[in-house]
Amino acid sequence: MSTQPIIDRLAVIGCGLIGGSIARAARASEAVKSVVVTDASADVRRRVREIGSDFADEVAETSAQAAKDSDLVIVAVPVGACGTVAQEIGTSLKPGAIVSDVGSVKSSVARDMAPHLPKGVHFIPAHPVAGTENSGPDAGFAELFVNRWCILTPVEGTDPAAVEKLQMFWEKIGANVATMTPDHHDLVLAITSHLPHLIAYTIVGTADELGDVTESEVLKFSAGGFRDFTRIAASDPTMWRDVFLHNKEAVLEMLGTFNEDLSKLTRAIRRGDGEALFEHFTRTRAIRRGIVSMGQDSAAPDFGRKHAPLPIAPIARPYASDDD
Ligand code: NAP
Repeated sequence: MSTQPIIDRLAVIGCGLIGGSIARAARASEAVKSVVVTDASADVRRRVREIGSDFADEVAETSAQAAKDSDLVIVAVPVGACGTVAQEIGTSLKPGAIVSDVGSVKSSVARDMAPHLPKGVHFIPAHPVAGTENSGPDAGFAELFVNRWCILTPVEGTDPAAVEKLQMFWEKIGANVATMTPDHHDLVLAITSHLPHLIAYTIVGTADELGDVTESEVLKFSAGGFRDFTRIAASDPTMWRDVFLHNKEAVLEMLGTFNEDLSKLTRAIRRGDGEALFEHFTRTRAIRRGIVSMGQDSAAPDFGRKHAPLPIAPIARPYASDDD
């Protein structure tokens, strides 16, 4: 891979988990000559200045100032705010600049942003399929995208050289790049990301409302699967509100299929149909193993969580059972 910077000046608008990780990764990998960032929040801008040059070379006061003279502008704000940002930067963009985003939904973002971007600017929506449940300027880290997929959804007729440049940028910061249409992206992500989040939000909410099981019991015995749902259900409320509002059709379609499958499993439990349950669980176990073998997750027990050593000393021998 070339050691030359791919982009001269990168602007990142929105300094949360994803924008902050892009800025840090671009600096650390030397994919760009300089990084200018901005955020709607003055507190966030102040925090980024405190973090300093690991994050960015410059913190601009407005999106328009950040976009001015930048060669690649990445909009990393909640999906519902992407159109507003495009409107703010539209007249400041230089001819030939590439404008992209990182929104978890692609069709609506493309629809909201495109009308505000002038001719001569290359608009290439994108979505890095990487993240954590944390948000804000301290949540990002340079390695977030390593060996994760970034999906580009260019519209027909986009300059292939601009697409290639954006692809090279993402590869330089560690990602694998795939290309698909915005509609297909939204359908795929509805099942792989949006529905799982909806299920996590639901199950954690349901547990919270149970009358017969106390809140302390839920917390105390949370290791058996529930704990992993709580991690997902801790994801940023603004971001996920926007995802469900903007990917309504695809999520509802997948939810319909999910409900049918849930009914089948409900019926199998009610009828005591162990064969159906076993067959289903065997199939899903194979999917999990496929994800691990593709390097998209750890095979380590308990997701590789580190466990504290036993707090107590081993019981001294002989045990009573040693006499048996
Ligand atoms: P985040 O940590 O909450 O950061 C978003 C930042 O954007 C916040 O600092 C926010 O400021 C700022 N912002 C909001 N509206 C703005 C505007 N109009 N102009 C400038 N800045 C604005 O969120 P994130 O997790 O990085 O998500 C950003 C985008 O990445 C979303 O579109 C999301 O769908 C996508 N994405 C997220 C993940 C994930 O796992 N989190 C993964 C892939 C893609 P305030 O806090 O003041 O509102």
